[in-house]
Amino acid sequence: MVELCGVSKSYDGVSDAVAGLDLTVRRGEFLTLLGPSGSGKTTTLMMLAGFEEASAGDIRLAGQSLMRKPPHRRNMGVVFQNYALFPHMTVAENLSFPLSVRGIRGAPAKERVGKALALVNLDGLGGRRINQLSGGQQQRVALARALIFDPDLVLMDEPLGALDRQLREKLQVEIKHIQRQTGVTVIYVTHDQSEALALSDRIAVFAGGRLQQLGSPRAIYDTPANAFVAGFIGENNAIDGTVMERAGDRCTVKLDGGGMVFARAMNDVGPGDRATVTIRPEHIATDDDAAALPNRLTATIDDRIYHGDHSKIYASLPGGARVTIRSPRARGGDRIDIGWAIDRSFAFAAGDTARVRGGGA
Ligand code: ADP
Ligand code: MG
Repeated sequence: MVELCGVSKSYDGVSDAVAGLDLTVRRGEFLTLLGPSGSGKTTTLMMLAGFEEASAGDIRLAGQSLMRKPPHRRNMGVVFQNYALFPHMTVAENLSFPLSVRGIRGAPAKERVGKALALVNLDGLGGRRINQLSGGQQQRVALARALIFDPDLVLMDEPLGALDRQLREKLQVEIKHIQRQTGVTVIYVTHDQSEALALSDRIAVFAGGRLQQLGSPRAIYDTPANAFVAGFIGENNAIDGTVMERAGDRCTVKLDGGGMVFARAMNDVGPGDRATVTIRPEHIATDDDAAALPNRLTATIDDRIYHGDHSKIYASLPGGARVTIRSPRARGGDRIDIGWAIDRSFAFAAGDTARVRGGGA
């Protein structure tokens, strides 16, 4: 439905805020652009909306280039932080505005406002002024305003960023529900990886203006394309070493502090390369559970933190590398035997953080 082909944007003519972006968005999907601050997410959304011009490449909607179309003719709903509601107008007046711009007035407009209010759980609040609403209610109005004219596409830039965690989680559920109910295509921007995992059909991970990986939440979490994605999505341990051997998609890595581990060999990592081995805290087994696993090490416990449903154990490997272990039970002692399965850990060539990866499930 939406295609970005070789899209780049430079604000200063020297560095690229977005570089060589190829991305296809499917009709009806919830696609999230996820990345740290400054990675080019907002710039990408601004180019889609038409508020910024691409320096190179093409953006197409349903096969038609958008490059010469002004924002108001793109039929996209936007929920941007800097695209505020009119504070002194009522909710209904705010919602009627995008309709009147499109020539929809009177009874048809009234009916749509009522439906939109119901959709975002604000029935009966049409007469309230915006400055009489809570932050969460205001974001609901912003969402309703973006949806009310049946857009082809809704663009949202960190819409829940200013809300506290509980309200954010509640609204995440509502946004997802509304998207399913209406079938609208959503491109959503966040720097919060848990929000991206919770909401998205697919996630596009950005760093340094480049697409790092595009895939389903599960694909991104379970099979990160590079060390950046492995470290940015969820918690991950990273242990440095040198690759000794590679056979197919597996390799042997000698850890800097001593000990050999087997891992999945990622990209073109090969013998002699410096590598980072990643393993998630929840994939590390301990004590008797570790005994039968191919990768086994003994660590010194530095700290343990009780979290109710699990405990976190912070430990050091010989040589000083720190590992975090998520364990279902609390545990005493100073030393701990740990182990993990080969397929749960990945060996990335050191510095393998900025490769452009497309495709994926
Ligand atoms: P994100 O939304 O992922 O935090 P942005 O797209 O806002 O990232 O920014 C990407 C890069 O472009 C950053 O280096 C940022 O400083 C720069 N940038 C963003 N907007 C402008 C602008 N209007 N003028 C100049 N540089 C900008
Ligand atoms: Mg931004």
